[in-house]
Order: sequence, then structure tokens, then C-alpha cells
Amino acid sequence: MSDMAEGKVPRRVDIAIVGGGLVGASLGCALAPLLERHGLTVAVIEAAPLPTDLDAPWQPSFDARASAIAEGSVRHFRTLGLWGDLAEQASPIRHIHVSEQGRLGATRLNAEELGSEALGQVIPNAWLGRVLHRRLADLPLAWHCPASVEQIQPWNEGHCLTLSDGARLEAGLTVLAEGGRSGLKERLGIESRERPYGQVALIAGVEVDRPHDGWAYERFTADGPIALLPLKGQAMELVWTHEAGQEDVRLALADGDFLAQLQRAFGDRAGRFRRVGRRHAYPLSLVTARETTRPGLAVMGNAAHALHPVAGQGFNLALRGVMDLVAAIESGVGRGELPGSAATLADFEARRGADRHDVIRFSDGLIRLFGLDSTLLSHARAAGLVGFNLVGPLRRTLARRAMGVER
Ligand SMILES: Cc1cc2nc3c(=O)[nH]c(=O)nc-3n(C[C@H](O)[C@H](O)[C@H](O)COP(=O)(O)OP(=O)(O)OC[C@H]3O[C@@H](n4cnc5c(N)ncnc54)[C@H](O)[C@@H]3O)c2cc1C
Repeated sequence: MSDMAEGKVPRRVDIAIVGGGLVGASLGCALAPLLERHGLTVAVIEAAPLPTDLDAPWQPSFDARASAIAEGSVRHFRTLGLWGDLAEQASPIRHIHVSEQGRLGATRLNAEELGSEALGQVIPNAWLGRVLHRRLADLPLAWHCPASVEQIQPWNEGHCLTLSDGARLEAGLTVLAEGGRSGLKERLGIESRERPYGQVALIAGVEVDRPHDGWAYERFTADGPIALLPLKGQAMELVWTHEAGQEDVRLALADGDFLAQLQRAFGDRAGRFRRVGRRHAYPLSLVTARETTRPGLAVMGNAAHALHPVAGQGFNLALRGVMDLVAAIESGVGRGELPGSAATLADFEARRGADRHDVIRFSDGLIRLFGLDSTLLSHARAAGLVGFNLVGPLRRTLARRAMGVER
């Protein structure tokens, strides 16, 4: 029997955001001006309970990780009026050092050369969560938390959502920003392509014996890439990618043994590692949804594309999507279109252009290039890194992409 026949008329909202993680929460904040200007109604549904202490790591988006936020994303957060608060815990990346274990080549990218103060900023995810959710709490949103969307079905040019708290919502536009693991996409017949990398990213805060001076490091080893990102003080965020299957051993190592292994793999270009915090492991796959929009539906963030973290692009890419979606909705509303109309979503896709495809290819290409074990390729890579250092414009193109200002 239909819900209408049962007499349970779902509550109507213009936009339902499924997932209040990095991407859903950013979208909620970005929609704020439209709530006032155009009277749009927005619901956010988040499965994980909000912690009472918002500084505490909060699974799964706002956990113990720190994210490299590209300069382009900083500009977006400025536009949203969030940068002032985010900056309190942000550490600038002023230089990037890229090297390969066992090879001479190294390339350096400098913000100064690009006429910029920083190539990007590193922000603890828990702080991102705190700032985004503080803003959401001030907005006139329908907030369902903790509650998960359990059912989704097409309904009256939009979708009907059934929530675990018993509520039912009818949304003109549903944004799936639930990370892609809830099965909702599949229930709508949206398939994803998944290619496991056979790798795991182990993350931890580490302390070095000298100031990092705003250096970030990316070191490609036979085992997988190791990234070190500058945090406040002498702390750095370690993202150590290695073959799947070794994570339990590395997670269980005594701190001293772990630091010794890390020092051997990374060398001492960043100094001596002195301390390591709690370690966490993330299995890595490239996941791409075959469809990202349908009338009444947009798939965003990890639900649309989960990337290898090697180039720190996943959230930056998603935030550009958030800004484009809000611009398309605003322009559509100005033409008398509903947020979920086919025209609005076609405009959104047009604004995204080749960005999504290019970034996915770039991140995946880095892993393939440095993951292939061939002597010829190794020499080519080393020559590439050394040569790359000399070829200014090419290096600047890479730097501008890392900064998220090149599309
Ligand atoms: C190790 C690692 C390091 C990374 N570093 C960077 C970086 O430096 N820079 C960068 O740009 N990107 C980085 N990324 C990528 C970035 O973390 C992701 O792009 C980002 O987390 C995606 O956020 P999301 O909101 O789409 O999904 P998630 O973070 O998965 O959030 C989804 C939210 O939806 C909720 N949810 C799930 N199911 C439901 C449901 N049925 N109903 C309601 N709510 C639901 C969940 O509770 C969660 O809060 C990294 C990723 C990894 C793994």
C-alpha cells in the first residue's frame, strides 16, 4: 500500500542532504544564503550522533585525520564566511618536497614562486567538523541526527526518504552525501565502478625534532607513498600507504619500532621522528559512481568518487562540486526552476565540466606511475622528478592543480 493511501503524507522539503559529513555539512553551510533569499527548505540527515564535545574526533568524516585543503578551497571557505574559524587550527603548506626512495630525483614546489603565501592548509578533520556543525546549528534547517535514511524511492518528481527515526521526507532534490556505503545508490539502480588498490593508508600524528617550516613531503617508496603534512608546532600528519595485509602488524608495533621503520622508509629529510600518536588504517579503492545526477538527485563526495589520498584531492574536488551545485540551484531558482529540476542539474553538470574526470585521472595516474615496478620506468620517473624541477611552467601547472586553482 502506498504511503499516501496509508494516510502518512511525507513532510515536503526542497532539498534533503543525506549525510552530514565533510561534504554534506559543507553543502548545508553553502546553502545558507539561499534559505533566506529564496525561502528554500533544507533537511540534513546524519546517522552518527553528534558528540557533546565537538572538538573530539567524530567518526567517520570528522575523525583523527587532518586534511590538506587546497588554496582554492580556502577561497571557497572564505566566501562561506567560515575561514576565520577554520584558520584557528590551520597550518599553511608553503613548500612541497616530492621524492622517490632509492632515486636521486626530488622536486620542490614553492608557494612564493606562484606569488602565493601558501600552497594549501592542513586542518584537523575534527576541527573542520566542529566549525561546519557550529554553523549548521545556527541555520534554520530540519536536522535529523542521529537518524539514517533507510529507504529511498522516486516520488512526485523527487524522492521519498524513510528515516530510521520513523520520519518520512519528500524531497524535490535529494543529495546523496553519505559516503557511498549505505546501499542507497544501489537501491536506485546507480552502479559504481570499484577498483581496490590493494593498499591501506595508515594515518597518525607524529612529532619531529625540528620545526617543519611549512614543508609537506610526498615520498614514493616501493611499499607505497608516504605523505607528511605540517600541523601546528612540530607535529605532522603522517599518511603512510602500504600494501594491504601489513596494517595489523604496523598498528600493533610498539611506538619505538614503528618510528624506526618509518625513519628507514622516509629518511631524515624532515628530521628525526620522536613520537607517534594513535594509528588508524583505511583500505583504499578507487570508487566512481556511473551516474552523478538524475532529476531530483545528486550524488556527491565519496558517494560519487572515493579517491586514493596520495594527492589530497578528494574533499577539495567535492567542495568545488558543492559550490557548483549551489550556484546552479541559485541560478535555476532565478529562472523559476526547482532545485531538483533536470535543467538545474544539467547546469550543475556543465559547471563541473571535466574537473571530476581530470582529478580522478590525476590521482589514479600518480599511483599507477609510481606503483609500476620497471627499471625503465624508475629511471624515467627519476629523470622526471629531476627534470621536472627544472621545467618551471610544468611544475607550476602541478602546483596550481595541488592548490585547486587550476581546472
Ligand atoms: C586517509 C585519507 C586521507 C585523506 N586526506 C585528504 C586530504 O588531505 N584532502 C582531501 O581533499 N581529501 C582527503 N581525503 C578524502 C576525504 O576524506 C573525503 O573526500 C571525504 O571524507 C568525503 O566526505 P563525505 O562527506 O563524502 O563522506 P564521509 O566522510 O564518508 O561522510 C558520510 C557521512 O554520511 C553519514 N551517513 C552514512 N550513511 C548514512 C545514511 N544512510 N543516512 C544518513 N547519514 C548517513 C555518515 O555517518 C557520515 O557522517 C582523505 C581520505 C582518506 C581515506
